[in-house]
Amino acid sequence: YYRRSWSSESSDSVISSESSSNCYRVVLIGEHGVGKSSLANIFAGVHDSIDSDCEVLGEDTYERTLMVDGESATIILLDMWDNKREGEWIREHCMQVGDAYLIVYSITDRASFEKASELRIQLRRARQKEDIPIILVGNKSDLVRCREVSVAEGRACAVVFDCKFIETSAAVQHNVKELFEGIVRQVRLRRDSKEK
Ligand code: GDP
Ligand code: MG
Repeated sequence: YYRRSWSSESSDSVISSESSSNCYRVVLIGEHGVGKSSLANIFAGVHDSIDSDCEVLGEDTYERTLMVDGESATIILLDMWDNKREGEWIREHCMQVGDAYLIVYSITDRASFEKASELRIQLRRARQKEDIPIILVGNKSDLVRCREVSVAEGRACAVVFDCKFIETSAAVQHNVKELFEGIVRQVRLRRDSKEK
């Protein structure tokens, strides 16, 4: 009777047993200051005045169910990449546990863009044989006059790294909903192609 929930390889068996049923763990990674927590807060509905059905699972873990293309999907969003208090192991952990990744840089900070490429390579190394859904996210698109990375560069980088690309602004909430819908679609595309 209990077998199903305890037979999982992962230590947090409750979450991983759900991952087969439209529940995806999405991990935010990227340089400090690029806007990961701001994006997570929008996802969590911190700015919604009404109807916030987000559950805060931990200090930096959020869960929310979205309707995407007529089908519901639950995202468990992890924003713990910058959690220095927990030490370096947390980054190793992040690299292992995601069903999908949002690699975030700031369009106003070229160093963060270069860091994003590094992270893509690290992720590929950590999860060698897996085809993991990734979106490269150029955040702070509202800061047009401080732009250091062009849209074309972001797009080209995503082509090289074989992932999707989107520019967002957490500040003016531009493309944030599209970002989370996009990652659900990416996970589904892979799921559907496996079923064939
Ligand atoms: P994190 O370190 O990646 O979690 O980044 P934060 O979410 O803490 O954001 C760092 C700073 O950038 C904060 O002062 C945010 O208010 C600001 N910020 C985040 N996203 C945006 C954005 O889209 N536009 C602008 N103008 N500022 C942003
Ligand atoms: Mg943060």
